[in-house]
Amino acid sequence: MAQGENLLTCVPVPILDSLIEGAYIVDSDFKIVYWNKAAESITGFSKDDVIGRKCSDYILIHLTSDGKNACVKNCPMKKSASCGRKLQDSMYLRHKQGHRVPVLIKTVPITQTENASSGVLELFSVIPKESETKKEVERLRKIAMLDNLTGIGNRRLFDLNFSSKLNELSRFKISFALLFADIDKFKLFNDQYGHPVGDRVIKMIANTISENIRSIDSVCRWGGEEYVILLSNVNKEQMIFTAEKLRNLISASSFAHRNSVIRAAVSIGAVFVNKKSSKAALLRKADKLMFKCKSAGGNCVTAG
Ligand code: GH3
Ligand code: MG
Ligand code: MG
Repeated sequence: MAQGENLLTCVPVPILDSLIEGAYIVDSDFKIVYWNKAAESITGFSKDDVIGRKCSDYILIHLTSDGKNACVKNCPMKKSASCGRKLQDSMYLRHKQGHRVPVLIKTVPITQTENASSGVLELFSVIPKESETKKEVERLRKIAMLDNLTGIGNRRLFDLNFSSKLNELSRFKISFALLFADIDKFKLFNDQYGHPVGDRVIKMIANTISENIRSIDSVCRWGGEEYVILLSNVNKEQMIFTAEKLRNLISASSFAHRNSVIRAAVSIGAVFVNKKSSKAALLRKADKLMFKCKSAGGNCVTAG
C-alpha cells in the first residue's frame, strides 16, 4: 500500500469529505495525500491540482497574521508534526486566482506508529469579514434589547429611546409623550386560566400597541404586565387622542380560550413632555397618573 493510502486508513475520510471546513492531509514528506471538497471551494484548487505536491509548491503558501511567509520557519504542519500536538492559528491562504483568504487553521498530527507522527491533518475555515462580524454583533445587540415573550423592546431599549427623545427635546425643542400602560386586574387571568393564558394576554396587548403606533413611536415592555410607549413629536391633544385610541383598541382585542373569550383592559398614565425633566421624575409622574386610573376603576387614560 502506498504511504498516502496507508495514512488515510488512520483518519475518518467520510467525515472529512462532508465537513464545511477545508481539510487536507500531508504525509511525512509534507506531500498532500488528501484534499476535501470544502478545501476546493475555499481555495479554488482542485484535488488534481494538489495531490502529490507540497503546499509550499506555489499552492497555499500560508502567510502568518502579520503577512510573513510561514513556509520558511513557521509552517504550521511542520510545527504540529515536530511537537506532536494540535495547533491553531489565524493565517492567510493563497487562492488559486492569486488573492489571499483569511482563515483560521487547526493542525492535528496523525500518528501511525507509537509516538512517531507520520502525517498531519489541517482544517481551515474562512474568517468572516469585519463587516459580517459587525453585522453579527449588531444582530446580537438587537436581540439583547428585545423582550423574549412579546418580541417588543425591553427596558434597556426603552432607556435608549427615552434618552433620544429627551435629547431631541433639549436640542430641537421637539416635544413628546410618555405613556405608562398597566393591564387591569391581570393577576386574575393567571389565577383563573393559568400562566400560559396570562402570557397570551401580555402578547396580545403588546401586538395591539405595536401595530397601531407610527413607525417613529415605540413601545417596550417595562416588565410584568406593564408597557411604556413613547410618542414622538406630538402635542397634548394628539397624545390624548392616541392614548384613548390605544386604550379602546386594547379593550376590543380578544381571543378564545376553551369556552371563554379572553379580553383585558389597561390603565394609561400619559405625560406630555415639553420641558427638561429627569427620566426618573417623568416615570414617577406617569406611574402616579396610571394609579389615578386604577382608583377610578381602570380602563381609562389620565393625562398630565
Ligand atoms: P392592577 O389592576 O392593580 O394592575 O392588578 P394586577 O393584577 O394587574 O397587578 P399585580 O401587580 O397585582 O399582578 C401582576 C401579576 O403579573 C403578578 C405576576 O405574577 C404576573 N406576571 C408578571 N410577569 C408575568 C409574565 O410574564 N407572564 C404572566 N403570565 N404573568 C406575569
Ligand atoms: Mg403592574
Ligand atoms: Mg396590572
